[in-house]
Amino acid sequence: MTAIKAAVCHEFGQPLTIETVDLRAPEMGEIEVTLEAVAICHSDISFAEGAWGGTLPAVYGHEAAGKISAVGAGVRDFNVGDDVLVTLIRACGTCPSCAGGKPTICETPYNGDLGPLAMPDGSTLHQAMACGAFAEKVVVDQSQIVKLPADMEKDVACLLSCGVITGVGAVVNAANFKAGQDAVVIGAGGVGLNAIQGARIAGARRIVAVDMSEEKLADAMEFGATDGVLATDPKPWRAAMKAMGRGADAVFVTVGAIPAYDAAPRYLARGGRVVMIGMPHSSDVSTYSPVVMAAVGQGMVGSKMGDVVIRRDIPWMIDLYQQGRLKLNELISNRWQLDQINDAIADTKSGSARRNVILF
Ligand SMILES: [Zn+2]
Ligand SMILES: [Zn+2]
Repeated sequence: MTAIKAAVCHEFGQPLTIETVDLRAPEMGEIEVTLEAVAICHSDISFAEGAWGGTLPAVYGHEAAGKISAVGAGVRDFNVGDDVLVTLIRACGTCPSCAGGKPTICETPYNGDLGPLAMPDGSTLHQAMACGAFAEKVVVDQSQIVKLPADMEKDVACLLSCGVITGVGAVVNAANFKAGQDAVVIGAGGVGLNAIQGARIAGARRIVAVDMSEEKLADAMEFGATDGVLATDPKPWRAAMKAMGRGADAVFVTVGAIPAYDAAPRYLARGGRVVMIGMPHSSDVSTYSPVVMAAVGQGMVGSKMGDVVIRRDIPWMIDLYQQGRLKLNELISNRWQLDQINDAIADTKSGSARRNVILF
């Protein structure tokens, strides 16, 4: 048992508290990583606000990078001292989804209440998202780990754990996007900017960004959008269609707002598809017209974590980053210490920030 500092959530909607908690040693197939950086994601905030339920007390945080400090029995290919990325994609490797190449929707349940964390009195401390990375160290399954080049900065690398793979992966994996096609990306926040650069990398003809803010549309152009449309326009799909000359082959909804989901099919070309990435509150509902979608061959597909296979997709993204073709440094707006985490969360919630990163 190791005593580590962690940001703990005791009550939904209340500030996290920095306290000392217990982390057990890695067991069969597990790896302990001493963290150097963890980014704050909107999913962490949604969980901490109680939007998706879950048990408390809990430690959130799931976009992390650091160095392996211990390995459990049966761990292959990883050693103490390796520089690694920690993701929430815990995959059993043998269920039908994993075997079919979709580890992001692994069917083997994981109970974070029975994970490696505990309160100092021995009571349950929930390891959220199979990570619990708002902490100095994590113990995770080896399936969640990817090796990093030793010279890659951890504050930059940790972004590849979630926001980047979710956006880029939605384009190349979920939408099966082809060179020359047109994309609409609704929301130019952390995931949206990555869907935009994914579409650029995939060879999109037009990439139309749609957002409520002029400032975010300017960010979108920096990441590869060819056109920007303000979502405050009562019918923003008209300006988008004008820019493309037709509807989009793929519309990426990267925000959890229901009006964005309701409007998404309106941007589509015949045969196009909506890729659902943004995660609304559990009780939210969107409506669409099945007859239109059936008549013109349109579709909708959900995409979790960019449908990535981490050891296939993250290495090529690292290579593109090193070649200057994938922007990562530009995604970081601020760097913080763990004891400033509530301020960093407030900054992320204000909507103006790209990614806030905690450094250890
Ligand atoms: Zn995330
Ligand atoms: Zn599985």
